[in-house]
Amino acid sequence: MTTRKILLVEDEPGLILTLQDRLRSEGYDVEAVQDGARGYERALTGGFDLIVLDLMLPHKGGLDICRDLRQRGVATPVLMLTARGQVVDKVVGLKIGADDYVTKPFEMLELLARIEALLRRRVEALAEETSFQLGKLRVDFRSTAVWRDGEPVALSAREFQLLRYLVEHRGETLSREKLLKSVWGYETTPNTRTVDVHIAWLRQKLEEDPHHPQLILTIQGLGYKFAG
Ligand code: CA
Repeated sequence: MTTRKILLVEDEPGLILTLQDRLRSEGYDVEAVQDGARGYERALTGGFDLIVLDLMLPHKGGLDICRDLRQRGVATPVLMLTARGQVVDKVVGLKIGADDYVTKPFEMLELLARIEALLRRRVEALAEETSFQLGKLRVDFRSTAVWRDGEPVALSAREFQLLRYLVEHRGETLSREKLLKSVWGYETTPNTRTVDVHIAWLRQKLEEDPHHPQLILTIQGLGYKFAG
């Protein structure tokens, strides 16, 4: 199992330190961001497994971040941190797509338990996702079969793994390094060109017009994103 990445968006320096220390000691990879707008950008592009999101933040509040992420198709679990008495906000937070919330001040053990539960649920949900359809593309994860326009498409094992990873993280911008590490499993990055080559092959096989891809999009300077 790879190290799970948590994005912590919180503007209280003391709380950041405490949470960062504790989450790291539990084996999580933690990135902390203090600014809401920056947190939103990282959530879009960082390939995180979970986001711990404060409600009141400079430049972009937690509710806006969560709503905008869901609108962009990012399904990363969100655990909201709310202050005592923000009952209305809690309800709204869950309605706009947050997965759970914890009220400040909270017990560290409770927070850790909630995080574990959300990560576990995510793994189960992904395992249950047996097929995927978008436009003319259909993917069956269980039989590792792919069809375009009803016609079977032959993919190599690596191409299928890459497609599966892209689909599972659809809506997220994924860097070449992230793809290499997650799909190929390299700890270092010997050659991110490998990713480009496989993306090109997938496009040849899956896209209506490989020169104007509609499924696997290039995000200039950042990497790739699966539409949807
Ligand atoms: Ca705050």
